[in-house]
Amino acid sequence: MNPARTKPPITGRTLVAGVAGHPVRHSLSPLIHNAWLEAAGLDGVYVAFAPDADRFAVFVEAFRGGAIRGLNVTVPFKEAALACADVVSPRAEMAAAANLLTFESDGTIAADNTDGIGLLGAFEAQAPGFDPKAGPIAVLGAGGAARGAVAALIAAGAPQVRIVNRTLAKAEAVAGAIGRGVVACPLHAAASAFDGVSAVINATSAGLAGEGMLDAPLEAAPGTAVVMDMVYKPLETPFLAKARALGRRTVDGLEMLVRQAVPSFEAFYGVAPPTAQVDVRALALKALGQ
Ligand code: NDP
Repeated sequence: MNPARTKPPITGRTLVAGVAGHPVRHSLSPLIHNAWLEAAGLDGVYVAFAPDADRFAVFVEAFRGGAIRGLNVTVPFKEAALACADVVSPRAEMAAAANLLTFESDGTIAADNTDGIGLLGAFEAQAPGFDPKAGPIAVLGAGGAARGAVAALIAAGAPQVRIVNRTLAKAEAVAGAIGRGVVACPLHAAASAFDGVSAVINATSAGLAGEGMLDAPLEAAPGTAVVMDMVYKPLETPFLAKARALGRRTVDGLEMLVRQAVPSFEAFYGVAPPTAQVDVRALALKALGQ
């Protein structure tokens, strides 16, 4: 980043967007979007909101008509965001969750989900040559993040996705909702679910600083399998450390976070972010203390 550059002033035309979550103070999205805004010299600002957990719909309604351009949505509001929208993109519908709301001037609220773009973009960046069509993929977890990942992988042509979850009923519900090509497996049978896969993706919250650990039998996956963890705090989770120790190629959750922000920025400010001009991954790593 050019250290001499100063943030453009807020004006009467400043475009406002933000992120809503609860809690939200840990979110790296303001850092990412504001760094891009500054590097592009755009008259825009990106802020964080922490609406009351039970008043999300009221909070969103207040923006109808375009008081702000849009919102990224994070835990625990992704499902509620979908329910607030008038128009839902097919990928948000398939994921049953939205991480992006835009407020049109005619009063329409549109929902989208860019997590799948982030996931596939992270593979492209850190595991070049990986092809989702090449073989079955195992996804650990059956929450919102897992469902979005499964939907994106099926849409990208994965021949089979195996959802491996501690609570089998939740994996079965996601498999049933997405349909063809998706099977559910209990966590204790992870070793057989990893047999012959081209990738293993951790979409559980295990490994997140302060959360429990996930002892996945990664040695049961082929040596060519790419291992990805959506958790990025710490950047090298015990899951990724184990994969590396086994010699597997790895993809981290921070790359997914940065890549899902690209289409959001385009939706808010109408132009592509200046990804070549500012290294937001480096800024995020610094903020994470890595
Ligand atoms: P949810 O709370 O909806 O789901 C959590 C999942 O993790 C459930 O399937 C749960 O299993 C499982 N789980 C939790 N703890 C354990 C454990 N100790 N052992 C085994 N399984 C466990 O969370 P989300 O789906 O919203 O998010 C999951 C993770 O993905 C979070 O860490 C989130 O930060 C991350 N994420 C990262 C993104 C990125 O851009 N990098 C984007 C979106 C999410 P069960 O059903 O049995 O309870």
